[in-house]
Amino acid sequence: MPKYIATPTRTKEILAKYNFAFKKSLGQNFLVDVNVLENIIGHAGIHKQSGTIEIGPGIGALTEQLAIHSDKVVAFEIDQRLLPILEDTLQDYSNITIAHQDILQADVHTVITQNFAPDQPIHIVANLPYYITTPILMKLLRENLPVDSLTVMIQKEVAERMAASPNSKSYGSLTIAVQYYTHAEIVMNVPKSVFMPQPNVDSSILKLVRRESPPVHVNDEDYFFRMVQASFAQRRKTLKNNLTSHFKETYGKETIGQILEETGIDGSRRGESLSMEEFALIANTFYKKES
Ligand code: SAM
Repeated sequence: MPKYIATPTRTKEILAKYNFAFKKSLGQNFLVDVNVLENIIGHAGIHKQSGTIEIGPGIGALTEQLAIHSDKVVAFEIDQRLLPILEDTLQDYSNITIAHQDILQADVHTVITQNFAPDQPIHIVANLPYYITTPILMKLLRENLPVDSLTVMIQKEVAERMAASPNSKSYGSLTIAVQYYTHAEIVMNVPKSVFMPQPNVDSSILKLVRRESPPVHVNDEDYFFRMVQASFAQRRKTLKNNLTSHFKETYGKETIGQILEETGIDGSRRGESLSMEEFALIANTFYKKES
């Protein structure tokens, strides 16, 4: 049985060898359980022909498994202190490229064209730094990257919001933002004990599969997302009251009521009861009045 990085003993050895101190500000909670990693890789649908992109390799726990199970790995790591460690821990693998870059600044499109074949299936996989989960995922989704799926370990509560259905406590503007681009599914909840150090929050593995095209037609995407945000601005308020607060500079209260009536959607409902189709209808109707 090979001595994988993702075990408590090996991880402690590596940390001691390099006198490595975790940076909480970079969300450094390393995985020390190979079963969890194999689960992530299995759910992501990775195989020997896949190209894989990892965000935040740490000391290489997940990177090593990706190198074993896929054709090629490109991993983005922001923390310079980890570069010599990764060179050491991953020295047995010739199919890994480490990019010393903040993923939020990275040109992922170019990295994909430079590292993978045009028809190669590409999967993004990560145990994400929890302090910037949402900005990272929204960047990757909005950039329209040619990737088949994104399978990520994130805070459980955030995963529930991204995969939520209408009329649930977790359903909100983040749900719409993520499900506009992808089919979202929580594939597994993960105990704190598989991390070193253990985080304060529970975690889940979320799988996002890119949609061929958005499930609704909107006249203007930014306008649509702003409208969705406005509808959830105060969860306990009705749709009409939230929209009135948002649009009162543009229209009077009465006109807002009239436009809503045109959509056939009852303004006394709350944002959390609206489907993506209903949000699109409202956004498109208001948009037409403005333009
Ligand atoms: N993949 C490793 C594992 O599972 O053991 C480490 C995961 S740890 C939760 C998050 C990693 O992301 C850390 O290595 C951290 O330094 C890195 N990181 C944090 N912010 C980043 C950013 N903006 N861009 C790239 N990497 C980042």
